[in-house]
Amino acid sequence: MSTANSREQWQSRADKLISNKEIKADAFIDGKYLASVSGERFDCVSPVDGRVLCQVASCDIEDANIAVANARQTFDSGVWSEIPPVKRKQVMIRFAEVLEHNRDELALLETLDMGKPIRYSGSVDVDGAARAIRWSGEAIDKIYDELAPTAHNEIGMITREPVGVVAAIVPWNFPILMACWKLGPALAAGNSVVLKPSEKSPLTAIRMAQIAIEAGIPKGVLNVLPGFGHTVGKALALHMDVDTLVFTGSTKIAKQLMIYAGESNMKRVWLEAGGKSPNIVFNDAPNLKKAAESAAAAIAFNQGEVCTAGSRLLVEAGVKDELLTLIAEEMQAWQPGHPLDPATTCGAVVDKQQLDNVLSYIKSGVDEGAKLIQGGGQVMAECGGVYVQPTIFSEVNNQMTIAKEEIFGPVLSVITFDGMDQAIEIGNDSIYGLAAGVWTSDISKAHKTAKALRSGMVWINHYDGGDMTAPFGGYKQSGNGRDKSLHAFDKYTEIKATWIMLD
Ligand code: NAD
Ligand code: MN
Repeated sequence: MSTANSREQWQSRADKLISNKEIKADAFIDGKYLASVSGERFDCVSPVDGRVLCQVASCDIEDANIAVANARQTFDSGVWSEIPPVKRKQVMIRFAEVLEHNRDELALLETLDMGKPIRYSGSVDVDGAARAIRWSGEAIDKIYDELAPTAHNEIGMITREPVGVVAAIVPWNFPILMACWKLGPALAAGNSVVLKPSEKSPLTAIRMAQIAIEAGIPKGVLNVLPGFGHTVGKALALHMDVDTLVFTGSTKIAKQLMIYAGESNMKRVWLEAGGKSPNIVFNDAPNLKKAAESAAAAIAFNQGEVCTAGSRLLVEAGVKDELLTLIAEEMQAWQPGHPLDPATTCGAVVDKQQLDNVLSYIKSGVDEGAKLIQGGGQVMAECGGVYVQPTIFSEVNNQMTIAKEEIFGPVLSVITFDGMDQAIEIGNDSIYGLAAGVWTSDISKAHKTAKALRSGMVWINHYDGGDMTAPFGGYKQSGNGRDKSLHAFDKYTEIKATWIMLD
């Protein structure tokens, strides 16, 4: 449980952290904090109030070379890769515990760094990160290899081995959580990892590297390189000695990473990218109030900076007016507030650039003829931070920019349809295929729609469900591979077939 419970308490902790210069902002290689080789740093500006939190090491090619060499050496030494799975399990569980023990500090760093409300940064992000580490750790001594069905004088062994050096490049919307969805299976499987957090949210990753050491993960197993995508991110993606690159971020960069892999060593590339997910409400939805509550949360939670945001609300004509009235009411619970206030549900947008993106999409909605029925503007500018109102457009058609492109802000596009076939057609008419919601009382319609939707996740009569047991990821340009569940281990292991001939 958190020991701070008011805005004042959180604020005074934040002030102390910043003025005492306690925020770790260096790279972490071989168990030590280090400046970048070039000595360059960049300002970490809080979107909460515009304050500079610290200057973060800006890593580049040389840092990537050092970190990858160290990760390789650590991997080859066997200090982590060759210990029994049951031992790695114990350390991973300890890692989860130490993360939880430092929940408040990590939550505060996350909130200050990227603007999400403190009420979620501990309970959703840090606890979710710890769960991912624990779940993957607990799994690793329960996964068996295989024997092939061979002739009597042969043995065919099919074994899984760690890939070696994994580079993980992660986004800013759930910084510690996305990192741990990768670290869980990557570390549990025995790999060494070089983690590159987003330049917009590096602080929890940097702090977590030290926590891993405290938990007993050997030095060199988890290295962290803060810096920009086009510098250190690119260096890792082009590196000849990175075996696997795992990524969460935009589709645009995901495609670029496939090119980098092709131009370098053909490293395995696993991508979790964007979405424009349809949340489909049929006339026979079992509970319209619940659907409205869920639709509002699906676009306003985390300021809409969620890859699975229910950003296209597809509503059947018969319930459109009633549903829109209910959603407008629900949205009152999601008006922006100060992120350090535990009552706040919607915090700051990650930075000024993202705010400008969101506002320009809102403008395009108006310009292309959608009807703005709620929100639409920046708020709380006087506090120096960047905040935007949850925004609803109705009368959207699926060809408008706000229906096609991922906004990554709290902007809901409401599209009306008639019947299941049209819902499926509009739902699938997207370059993305990450997630979808379906609201109906008809079990056949629910299953038929779920089967017809080309998306990695379908939620029936709720939105955004699942836990560590369910794979997370998408079809089409939403990416490949899956985070979470045992399927995630596919990304962090190679399969070896050893065939033995008996005399
Ligand atoms: P982004 O693609 O701009 O950046 C993601 C990461 O890639 C950052 O660490 C960035 O520094 C790095 N990067 C940028 N250019 C690079 C390059 N040339 N080479 C190597 N690395 C580079 O994405 P973002 O704005 O940080 O995050 C938002 C995006 O993430 C959204 O599109 C969202 O849908 C997606 N996302 C997807 C999932 C999922 O699981 N599918 C989850 C969360 C977020
Ligand atoms: Mn930041």
